[in-house]
Amino acid sequence: MPADDLKRIVYDTLSFDCPVQKVKDNIYSLELFHGPTLAFKDVGARFMARLLQYFIKKEGQSDLVNVLVATSGDTGSAVANGFLGVDGIHVYVLYPKGKVSPIQECQFTTLGQNITAVEVDGVFDDCQALVKTAFMDAELNQHMKLTSANSINVARFLPQSFYYFYAYAQMKRLGLADNLVVCVPSGNFGNICSGLFGKRMGLPIKRFIAANNANDIFYNYLQTGEYNPRPSVQTIANAMDVGDPSNFARIYDLYHKDHAAITADISGCTYTDEQIAESIRSAYQQTGYLCDPHGAVGYRALCEGLKEGEVGVFLETAHPAKFLSTVEGIIAEKVQIPAKLAAFMEGKKQSVAMSKHFADFKAFLMSR
Ligand SMILES: *Cc1c(COP(=O)(O)O)cnc(C)c1O
Repeated sequence: MPADDLKRIVYDTLSFDCPVQKVKDNIYSLELFHGPTLAFKDVGARFMARLLQYFIKKEGQSDLVNVLVATSGDTGSAVANGFLGVDGIHVYVLYPKGKVSPIQECQFTTLGQNITAVEVDGVFDDCQALVKTAFMDAELNQHMKLTSANSINVARFLPQSFYYFYAYAQMKRLGLADNLVVCVPSGNFGNICSGLFGKRMGLPIKRFIAANNANDIFYNYLQTGEYNPRPSVQTIANAMDVGDPSNFARIYDLYHKDHAAITADISGCTYTDEQIAESIRSAYQQTGYLCDPHGAVGYRALCEGLKEGEVGVFLETAHPAKFLSTVEGIIAEKVQIPAKLAAFMEGKKQSVAMSKHFADFKAFLMSR
């Protein structure tokens, strides 16, 4: 790929800002929520959409490419908005009926154009199973070109490295980059993995903290050297409810399976819902800064884990208004909804009702 073409796509991907904000003392927030769906997943989704569009054009492909994505909320909106209006691509977002928050739902059901929302009468795992089965179905694959927008795709996680460099540059400008600790609220560990790749590329971040909610599989690995995945438990930081992080293998490989090398660069922590809520409340009362439940995990980890002389940046992975009722319940105040989010909420919701049986989903796609 010619460097100029890649550069154009990189610039287009990062056309929204990721500013560093001072929260208190030596703790800063890197706000990754200024994109179209107000969460960091916009970066990867947008980059992937632009790349796919580039290669479709370059190869002179005339067949429509169909992206199938199952979502429990956030991934679907980021992917749908990343691909919105992109020529030659149609996106089907499968989501479980009644199990996605109204704010999340409107971010992919109101778009129209090349985005079709499919409301599945089942749970997230049913959506995932429909997508996986579709990729394996010979007749369907003959009928239409299918592809995935799964978070394990390198095109989604590599571009996230960029904003670690940008955060470093901003801290450097403040004269605060020498002992920089970056704290990443983590679920599937794609985000922190991007930062570790950045460090390996030469970015002088001193160390990382992987902040977990009650899903503490990685935390336990750091303590014991043993990786024991188990079913996820539900928390108020629900985008991190992951029981078998898919990027663990990537980190393990990056450090040549060396536990001591991993713990030299990464420490961990784990917090209950009560602790997360308490952190949102105290940060807001003490500093005026309002964290979302995911960012709050990162904030708390820095409050407890920074050593003498260190400066910490936590990744604020989503805007607090995306978790409106949780956050309002915790601070006992109304949260202002950004105009971008309000615009989604005014749109007309459109979706295709679907059973959880593959035969029905296949018949629907065959008719397209
Ligand atoms: C996806 C997500 C995370 C977790 O990121 P991983 O790359 O899966 O570790 C954290 N916070 C928010 C708001 C998210 O949407």
